[in-house]
Amino acid sequence: MESTTNPMKRRGVELKFIEGTRVVSANDLQANNITPYQVTKFYRKQIIAGGYYEQLKNIVEPSIAEFDSPGSLDTSGELDNTVVPGLQHKYVQTCLLLVTERCGSYCRYCFRKRIVGKVSDEIAPDLDLAAQYITEHPEISNVLLSGGDPFVLSTANLNSILDRLLPIHHLNSIRFGTKMLAYEPGRFEDSTLSALFQRIHKAGKTSIIVAHFDHVGEISCEAEQKVRALRAQGVQFLNQSVLLAKVNDDADVLAATFAKCHEIGVRPYYLFQARPVRGASHFQVALGRGLEIVRGINQRLSGIEKTFKYIMSHHTGKIEILDLVQDGRVYMRYHQNKVPEKIGKIFSRPFVPTACWLDDLPEE
Ligand code: SF4
Repeated sequence: MESTTNPMKRRGVELKFIEGTRVVSANDLQANNITPYQVTKFYRKQIIAGGYYEQLKNIVEPSIAEFDSPGSLDTSGELDNTVVPGLQHKYVQTCLLLVTERCGSYCRYCFRKRIVGKVSDEIAPDLDLAAQYITEHPEISNVLLSGGDPFVLSTANLNSILDRLLPIHHLNSIRFGTKMLAYEPGRFEDSTLSALFQRIHKAGKTSIIVAHFDHVGEISCEAEQKVRALRAQGVQFLNQSVLLAKVNDDADVLAATFAKCHEIGVRPYYLFQARPVRGASHFQVALGRGLEIVRGINQRLSGIEKTFKYIMSHHTGKIEILDLVQDGRVYMRYHQNKVPEKIGKIFSRPFVPTACWLDDLPEE
């Protein structure tokens, strides 16, 4: 380990932030767990040409606010649910496999700031061990490949992961969580990907790409072409978005995003409440405002377009945020929970105008 008194680490350099330049040292960056800066040329060009730079720059450009945003680096209890290195098993039927710590660009709001852009021991070091765990748990029906972004890996690497997963009979679907359709849609031009998806289908399993479009301005013509081509090969698409202050905290923007997703065959799935992540909690929108936005989205969409749930991915489970009622309470329901009996049960907490997370609402 390098000494923290190393003068090279203490000496500051001038770095660019949204608010202006600031002199920071390697020690400052490390102590505040600041995610490295990385954005693809494609994304930068897309957000400028699309006319949404002012909102979308907040997704990828570092902000000085990252030094002062309180929170946790593991808001969903991922470490507690890690069953073998790199494999999480929180909900009965689903496993999550962390396959890389790298992404096309780094989202400043990422809830895996403790992992992305770093060298992390949370990435599965032994795929055989992970596959063995899944094989021994017949209740697991689906695996989500995540990280990081699985599509930064080569297709050969992805095939090697599938070598372990496809022989497991009780798996019925393989999901890929990715923002590469926004950051680098050219990745999906790789002709060998077609064979990869066909392998999944021939093994009798469904392939699902969970795209990550937070804003209609991220859905480029190139992304649309790639989605349509992969759909024609039998790949299913869902979309998840995060509700983000200054980016998409607007019913018009999110309704347009979900309508566009629906138009290209990507089913809006989750709208996540941003988590109280250390270094990213400035992206949170208060729950009361979030519910207003969700109501506005639903008023703007047709029945078949409103397939999303407004979700708080809490360490106790995935909580659907339903409504703020006249009795002054926020009503919620467990969409997923480690304890199956709790799923679907509606519960409520007294409303607090500044609350952004379940823990900000008093128990009675
Ligand atoms: S692409 Fe996903 S994993 Fe990577 S930084 Fe963005 S939110 Fe985090």
